[in-house]
Amino acid sequence: MQNNLFYSLNDELKKKFGTKIIKLSLDGGFTCPNRDGKCGMRGCIFCSEMGAGEYAGSRKLSIHQQMCEQIALLRPKWPKAKYIAYFQNFTNTYASVQTLRELYEEALRFEDVVGLAIATRPDCLDNEILCLLEEYNRKTFLWVELGLQSIHKRTAEFIRRGYELPVFDEAMQALNQRQIRTVVHLILNLPNESLEDMEASLRHVCNSGIWGIKLQMLNVLRHTDLAIYYEKKPFYLRSAEEYIVLISYLLTQIPAHIVIHRLTGDGDKKDLIAPRWILNKRYVLNGIQRYMREQGLYQGKCIGGG
Ligand code: SF4
Repeated sequence: MQNNLFYSLNDELKKKFGTKIIKLSLDGGFTCPNRDGKCGMRGCIFCSEMGAGEYAGSRKLSIHQQMCEQIALLRPKWPKAKYIAYFQNFTNTYASVQTLRELYEEALRFEDVVGLAIATRPDCLDNEILCLLEEYNRKTFLWVELGLQSIHKRTAEFIRRGYELPVFDEAMQALNQRQIRTVVHLILNLPNESLEDMEASLRHVCNSGIWGIKLQMLNVLRHTDLAIYYEKKPFYLRSAEEYIVLISYLLTQIPAHIVIHRLTGDGDKKDLIAPRWILNKRYVLNGIQRYMREQGLYQGKCIGGG
């Protein structure tokens, strides 16, 4: 752990590649079964029409063009960096194997790309797709991201996730069997979730064989059903200081080997309704480190890790 507090993605990638690695956020032109009618039409309650990947490249451009654009901006600052092609927007295994292969290959052909990150849903990983992922896992550095958000049934219904917990558990088992790295997202401060609920989700996920985890505060974004709900029935959103304490405490319950991919989100300035403090990412991240140092906390402390 570079900061002696938690094991970050930077630590892991530095160890593996020995150089700066940057994720390029890509839009492969996919949709999502929770939007196209297969399991829902309106998407998850917090998801904007942009599909949970507001910072991805433009879907009007090819993968190659999106990568060229992003690398042109990054090169001056990081001339020696290498890249992970991050298929971020919507459900990036929701297409035929042939289409997926073409898109992944287009990304991997790019010079200095050392790996693939694929965000998807556990109900979009049939056997054919799993075989494809297994193939890519053998030839590149691959991870698959799943947005579980919570293990609780009532929350899954509230957020309209569109699949049940056993679907996630089965997908994790299948990915683990194939030794494919997995990253799971949890959202904190979902309405009607207590600290115990969040801890239970964290425990479940940490026991399911994940490689990495993303944690973030719930964002209320304009043009989402959550924004309508929040307007009609405002619910309590933690302050930055409360969130810092919460995250620091949760980190002590995460085994030390699990890679921390995210502790706070970026938030889209123009569409973010609340909480506005998430826009000050530096303040939150510095606050977490300061608080953990002051309190003598570190990742895994409460479960004997370190
Ligand atoms: S699964 Fe992802 S892309 Fe689909 S509606 Fe939910 S958050 Fe949006």
